[in-house]
Amino acid sequence: MSNTPANTKSSTQADETNTSTLVDMPEYVSLDKWADNAFEWKGNVAPVSFERLAVLLSTEHQQPTLYLNANLYRRNNVLHLAFELAGETWLTCQRCLQPVAIDLTDDYDIALLDKDSQISLVDDEQDYLLLDEVIVEKAPERLLPFKKLVEDEILLKTPLAPKHDDCEMIVEQFGEIPEEEENENPFAALATLKGKLSK
Ligand SMILES: [Zn+2]
Repeated sequence: MSNTPANTKSSTQADETNTSTLVDMPEYVSLDKWADNAFEWKGNVAPVSFERLAVLLSTEHQQPTLYLNANLYRRNNVLHLAFELAGETWLTCQRCLQPVAIDLTDDYDIALLDKDSQISLVDDEQDYLLLDEVIVEKAPERLLPFKKLVEDEILLKTPLAPKHDDCEMIVEQFGEIPEEEENENPFAALATLKGKLSK
């Protein structure tokens, strides 16, 4: 299921222009086949291949590939989807309208609970989803929307109004500079599906 050679980080210029290592990540993972079979997938993926992310991407800057290394595992008999992302996407700075890099590098881990009662089996800070709410039933297989779940996490990590930390745009304002409102992240709905025991 894994693709090689793909275990290199994608931060070099050579990788940015080399699309031969780009691979299509699977949309779905069959749980019947892989839930207990050490599913692992790694490869370089193009940010534009995520449809919801694609509309946010800057067209003024090349988009380096993202390195993804994902696996399914069980802990306390609870299924987890874990993945490591490495790389950045280029969005548009909402102050100067120039491209700004957003680092997506992180380790992600989502517990996939069979039922609510499994909540007691995961750590307090563990993100979790109920399998029933994410699974796509395509009888006779139960399919985990692998790509969608990864994209959900990317979108949750993507700021609503990306800005350069040191944006040099001089904004001429008359009168008071309005406080920037903390608008609700348009992808906040994704988080409502996801529980956090700490709340
Ligand atoms: Zn800026």
